[in-house]
Amino acid sequence: MTDFSNTRQQFHLPEGLVYLDGNSLGPMPKSALAVARRVIADEWGEMLIGGWNKADWMSLPMRLGDRIGRLIGAPAGSVTTGDTLSIKVYQALASALELNPGRKTVFSDNGNFPTDLYMAEGLLKSLGEDFKLKVVDPEAVADHIDDSIAVVMLTEVDYRTGRMHDMAAITRKAHEAGAIMIWDLAHSAGAVPVDLSAANADFAVGCTYKYLNGGPGAPAFIYVRPDLADRVRPALSGWLGHEAPFAFDLDYRPGAGVERMRVGTPPIIQMAILEAALEVWEGVDMADIRIRSIELSQRFIELVEAGTDKAVLVSPRDPQPRGSQVSFRFAEGYAAIQALIARNVVGDFRAPNIMRFGFCPLYNSLEEVEQAAGILCEIVETGAWNRPEFRKRQAVT
Ligand SMILES: *Cc1c(COP(=O)(O)O)cnc(C)c1O
Repeated sequence: MTDFSNTRQQFHLPEGLVYLDGNSLGPMPKSALAVARRVIADEWGEMLIGGWNKADWMSLPMRLGDRIGRLIGAPAGSVTTGDTLSIKVYQALASALELNPGRKTVFSDNGNFPTDLYMAEGLLKSLGEDFKLKVVDPEAVADHIDDSIAVVMLTEVDYRTGRMHDMAAITRKAHEAGAIMIWDLAHSAGAVPVDLSAANADFAVGCTYKYLNGGPGAPAFIYVRPDLADRVRPALSGWLGHEAPFAFDLDYRPGAGVERMRVGTPPIIQMAILEAALEVWEGVDMADIRIRSIELSQRFIELVEAGTDKAVLVSPRDPQPRGSQVSFRFAEGYAAIQALIARNVVGDFRAPNIMRFGFCPLYNSLEEVEQAAGILCEIVETGAWNRPEFRKRQAVT
């Protein structure tokens, strides 16, 4: 059984703060400071260029990939890290389209995070007029997968509602229709058990600053199924995805397997911090995470619904098709979240009217959830949100 009091100990959380926004930016692992200091002072400071060899900076993207792979059911050597998730979406989609020549439609849903759709639009535009992005309601996805589709590109857990797709069933359906399947695990990795191998997914991508706590701007990850990886042509053919970067050949030859999805120089300081954050997952069982996450989110729903009928649940009530987050609709959701933050409970707001709360068993307790629900109900019921300072919009919501 995972020792959650031990994992909680490993995070720095400001005194008295209830943090239910780890689905947006995970908190700082205490070890991050010492690791950053070590990398900056002892490695960069003392070793300078020698750090690439002496401190083994060059293998960091793949080492991190292996650690992440253990959390998402991906075998060693099938995941690499770098760049941002938007870039990894582009890479996966470009390669997937090439694996399915003759078909020109990318299929997704309108619950997807906008950047995934934007990246697809941008790529399809540069491929030509006949390439199309088809988007339907999340509930209609399974019924619209047919043999006109080249690539199915979905985010498993909806960032707004927490609704979760059935990864295995949809992947099977995509394959039966002859399509390539890409999963975005932004709200899945570290949040819910994922088994990419069992689902037989072709590609997966995700970020590490949400449930994996790698820090703001931490690098993204990409998985390519091992039997496909050597056939995949990387669209962003950077020198660090080359078979022999230091041969400095003028021609591009892709590296072995998923290494070809590396692009340029990795951000070593950020990656070292991510490595420290992934260390927290040693000894953590994703099955325990799931049980606890459901316990926390069910309790939250129960208490909020008992305390107010002004906020309406928009997440699935059934925990099975729900990720590790819960959202309520409230017309003045933005102001309510600001009022909540002023009371030391952090959730976030997603336009147009969604109040969103993430539950992270690594550091969130049942008492915190109960406290947060109580304060939320009080704010919504009494109209405490209705103050000019809470209604004033900030750049990041
Ligand atoms: C958070 C998130 C992103 C963010 O992309 P970045 O390039 O890291 O800014 C992309 N896609 C999904 C589904 C997300 O949830």
